[in-house]
Amino acid sequence: MNRPERLPRLRLRVGATAETILRSDHPWLFADSVREQNRAGELGELAVIFDRNDKFLAVGLFDPDSPLRVRILHSGKPQSIDPAWWQQHFAESIAKRTGLFDDKTTGYRLINGESDGWPGLVLDRYGTTLVMKLYTAAWLPRLEEIVALVVGGWPHERLVLRLSRNIQGLAKTQFQIADGDILRGPPLDGPVVFLENGLSFEAEVLRGQKTGFFLDQRENRRRLESLARGRAVLNAFSFSGGFSLYAARGGARSVTDLDISQHALESARRNFALNQSDAAVASCPHETIQADAFLWIAANAQRKFDLIVLDPPSLAKREGERAGAIQAYGKLARHAVAHLNAGGILVAASCSAHVSSDEFFAMVRESVRGTGRRFEELETTAHAPDHPATFPEGHYLKCVYLKL
Ligand code: SAH
Repeated sequence: MNRPERLPRLRLRVGATAETILRSDHPWLFADSVREQNRAGELGELAVIFDRNDKFLAVGLFDPDSPLRVRILHSGKPQSIDPAWWQQHFAESIAKRTGLFDDKTTGYRLINGESDGWPGLVLDRYGTTLVMKLYTAAWLPRLEEIVALVVGGWPHERLVLRLSRNIQGLAKTQFQIADGDILRGPPLDGPVVFLENGLSFEAEVLRGQKTGFFLDQRENRRRLESLARGRAVLNAFSFSGGFSLYAARGGARSVTDLDISQHALESARRNFALNQSDAAVASCPHETIQADAFLWIAANAQRKFDLIVLDPPSLAKREGERAGAIQAYGKLARHAVAHLNAGGILVAASCSAHVSSDEFFAMVRESVRGTGRRFEELETTAHAPDHPATFPEGHYLKCVYLKL
């Protein structure tokens, strides 16, 4: 898409701090860092950013209504963003996934937003269904162009559009598009089934959180499989039972899914049903408990387990919630330890971008130490490799494994 006809290129000048940030390849320019602007900009148009000496810094997508004013597409040497650039940019992102997965894994991320140079845009594959999720309105005017790239890459696959809640209103009124629209391919009225390391799972691509599944936890789920043999496993904040299925295949004595959402637990039961051809899954007792996990874990210490996974939703959506979130993670870990038998393993994850890995790990260790139980730290982990993180805010997922 080109700039509105006959208007000069939108040019912004920024101050010293923003200059340093952009030179470090950070993908966001905030409105309060803009010192000068040659004209009012329109949603989704290209804005070229210059330093104090009029030297090119970066080019990105402009959003006049967001404090996150420009999302960077390219920084460094001057570059014109033309159809050939988009085509190459797309091909490069997809090529990064080559060789990461065999045919036992058909669900993975193809484009991971900012960290792949597509700020606020995610593209996931679930079998023959592709799901594109937009987190910024700046992509809406370019939708046709981007869809053409995706369809050019995979002409025969279904393409589902997902929109973050904050842009759904504008998408409807100004662009006549809605969350869950199927942009290409056959209609769909429920979840799609895909494979992850040979296990079958449902992805709720039309309405589910993220794009329908938590692909970012794939490597941690796989680790769980190798730790679960003979253990009674509690999967707290289980969603659709991902960790539990791996634990069951790994020989767990029993698996218990705990989630507040009945809908998620129903999906977990269907996912177990989908994998009955695996003897270990078929013979592993599977229980579901619908409850607030914070309360349930604080209250039911008589129920003992040998392995507990804690994977709550983000507890700090804003910087102001950071301190409270760290305390909540600590409390959760402390309460979970009361359920663990001797030799038990605690796997504690956080997906809050506002809580750093160091803060989170320190809090979990301190809380477990505070219970007086001795432990050995097995490891700490981050995202799966199809979820690269190239800037500080992109490093949201962290996980620590402690063995009592
Ligand atoms: N571990 C999962 C992803 C967890 S997502 C996986 O690997 O797929 C977080 C889950 O926490 C969601 O399913 C959500 O329904 C659930 N949740 C949110 N608040 C909760 C609460 N207070 N108690 C229990 N579950 C909760």
